[in-house]
Amino acid sequence: MVRSIIIVGAGMGGMAAGIYGQINGYETRIYEMHTKPGGQCVSWRRKGYTFDACIHHFFGCKPGSSVYQMWHELGALPRELVTLKECTAVASPDGKMFVDYYDLERLKKTLLNLSPTDTKMIEKYIELIKVFAKDKMDDALSSGSLWKMLSIFPSMVSIRKWIKMNMRTFAERFSDPFLRNAFALLIYANPDAPLFFHFMRHAGGMSDDIQWPVGGAAEFSKSIEKRYLALGGKILYSSRVEKILVENDRAVGIRLVDGSEHRADSIISNADGRKTILDMLDGKYMNEIVRNYCAPLQDETPFAIDVFLGVNRDLSGEPSSLVLLLDQPVKIADHTYESIETQLYGFDKSMAPAGKGTIKVELPASYACWKKLYHDDREKYKLQKQKVAERVIEILDNHFRGIKNQVETIDVCTLMTWERYMGGSQGWFNLPNRKLDFTMREDRSDKKFKTTLPGLDNFYFVGAWASAMGSLAHNANSGKTIIRRICGHDGVKFKAHP
Ligand SMILES: Cc1cc2nc3c(=O)[nH]c(=O)nc-3n(C[C@H](O)[C@H](O)[C@H](O)COP(=O)(O)OP(=O)(O)OC[C@H]3O[C@@H](n4cnc5c(N)ncnc54)[C@H](O)[C@@H]3O)c2cc1C
Repeated sequence: MVRSIIIVGAGMGGMAAGIYGQINGYETRIYEMHTKPGGQCVSWRRKGYTFDACIHHFFGCKPGSSVYQMWHELGALPRELVTLKECTAVASPDGKMFVDYYDLERLKKTLLNLSPTDTKMIEKYIELIKVFAKDKMDDALSSGSLWKMLSIFPSMVSIRKWIKMNMRTFAERFSDPFLRNAFALLIYANPDAPLFFHFMRHAGGMSDDIQWPVGGAAEFSKSIEKRYLALGGKILYSSRVEKILVENDRAVGIRLVDGSEHRADSIISNADGRKTILDMLDGKYMNEIVRNYCAPLQDETPFAIDVFLGVNRDLSGEPSSLVLLLDQPVKIADHTYESIETQLYGFDKSMAPAGKGTIKVELPASYACWKKLYHDDREKYKLQKQKVAERVIEILDNHFRGIKNQVETIDVCTLMTWERYMGGSQGWFNLPNRKLDFTMREDRSDKKFKTTLPGLDNFYFVGAWASAMGSLAHNANSGKTIIRRICGHDGVKFKAHP
């Protein structure tokens, strides 16, 4: 008899579970509360402009890697891609600009022009990038393969002192004040980000493993949805799951908010972990480990506010990502910013009408502050969003002179917007309170309840809660991992292709 699987949520993990489930002979159905696929991997159109709330760095573009193979299986690759020439760029108010090029000759020249006194440190930086790229450390570290990890061990030992640093401590080694500021902000303008993550990005960019999928996040998600539907899968949109039905400690189905009940042999949740455990399962399947996972995350949330602008200005000559240092701190809502990070989509013509450009500015902010505003006074919340956009446009105008008169459309998205569309418990931030795991290896032990819950049979997590990683590839891979596990239980030989 064909076994059935219900999946809650059509994010990366949910759709990947659906695709591998269909390939392996299961009858799968995805219940999605939103009207479109992709979850966090989302973009939308406004007056001819595409606003992408997700992709900065898309890993797995290079044929031959295991991640490329998975995207291929999921119908996401091959597709039209754009090669980017830089990791990011930083500009100072007095007109200095550091572009962190993937081309190392060009990078070295840029840095030496900016600060000849930092020659030794600049050479070290280039050398570290080379070590990382030569051994394909990015691929080895994310694969979790013991063999690949062993092969990079000697190089890891040689650079271990550097790998332990964060961006701030690395930046402090430069003597030039602008470079000290700039280096600290090369990863999402976050000085606490790990340095080795920056090297992984460089290695990915240099080898063309990181590129930009033309059209942005929604087109990417739609290609995976297309593969799933072609395999006979079913997605039911506008179908919010309220409860997971349990009988004798076995998950047996779901109840939607409209009261309808649906049954299957296994239930997989791609939804927010806290909501699944505490609300859909009434907090009945928890031990100390799971309770700790459910503890709230820090209040300060990255990518908490996105300001999207459609501008009547050609951005094709601009870097893809630009951090603007501010001459003095700027207070927006309850937060003070010393820099702002922008994404400038001039490299992809499909993102704006001809000759025009799309800009995204992402700001960290306090979850509690925006939640209170949203729930206490909706008018004030809307006004605050408008003020944020005005402040951001003023800041941009200092760098892009005249841009404030070129703005044609504005959209502001907060953590509350994410919750409205995706039902999370801290905006998009669906991570358990535990250590990050950069590898994509299979989790067979489940000792730490990454993907199951204590005392509950037939139930699995996929997506960010299961992987503890905010990455498209890791979360799609979590869907593959769970179907492989279910196949193992059922004595089915797992297949990755129909
Ligand atoms: C701002 C931002 C930038 C990012 N940049 C990058 C990047 O550059 N590169 C990269 O690799 N990754 C990036 N990521 C991370 C990546 O997008 C996510 O890790 C990944 O998309 C999450 O997939 P997921 O499987 O956890 O599902 P999610 O995207 O979390 O989807 C879960 C789905 O479940 C649905 N759902 C929730 N509750 C219910 C319910 N009760 N009933 C029915 N459906 C429900 C939601 O609507 C949603 O569709 C970024 C993420 C964000 C937010």
